[in-house]
Amino acid sequence: MVDIEEWNKLNSEFEEKNIKLIAVSKTKPIESIHELYDAGQRDFGENYVQELTDKHAVLSKTIKWHFIGHLQSNKVKFIAPFVYLIHAVDSYDLLTEINKYAHRNNRSINVLLQMHIADEETKFGMNEAEILAVLEQYKTNTGTLQNIKICGLMGMATNTTDEDKVRNEYKRLYSFLKHLQTTELVDKSCFNTCSMGMSSDYKIAIEEGSNMVRIGSLIFGSR
Ligand SMILES: *Cc1c(COP(=O)(O)O)cnc(C)c1O
Repeated sequence: MVDIEEWNKLNSEFEEKNIKLIAVSKTKPIESIHELYDAGQRDFGENYVQELTDKHAVLSKTIKWHFIGHLQSNKVKFIAPFVYLIHAVDSYDLLTEINKYAHRNNRSINVLLQMHIADEETKFGMNEAEILAVLEQYKTNTGTLQNIKICGLMGMATNTTDEDKVRNEYKRLYSFLKHLQTTELVDKSCFNTCSMGMSSDYKIAIEEGSNMVRIGSLIFGSR
């Protein structure tokens, strides 16, 4: 069941604050996406390559698809023809693979670098030093990576009821994003997306500077 009323509420709050709402539709049926699309939602997030390509094939081509899961290099080619933003890039190798297939499809693909801010080992992403290393390598090789745009950072906080902990993790991501914006490593005209916050913690994420939230269960119901 899609909660259109909840979506309306979130959507107007976010529009006012200039925050992009990504509706996370993983595991949810086509009909639910249709319903939200008809209400006006255009940005949808998915975690699994096969599910994303299946949905893309049958849904409106005006949807902006966000890949928010962990992306394996050998699967990039399946989403490269149409994906709008890849949120969780965690290595230079993956960047080059995305660039390769973006080039083959004669397009440019937007990406975010995933920063590891949570305690849990299970969450992917890079620490500050690793992100700096990727950006330095990117800057050295910018000429060969013409088909990607690095638009900012993404992160997932620890799954905990300890709000201070979540807040501090989001603070860390936001302040690193702000720091990077003062360096020569990023293109200031586009490195400004801060993708953090989901159903359980989006309020904290927004207070800490998020301008892109990824919300699933609040809108689509639990999985
Ligand atoms: C599933 C998922 C979400 C949405 O989670 P909800 O708790 O349903 O809002 C957000 N971000 C990522 C990376 C996810 O995998």
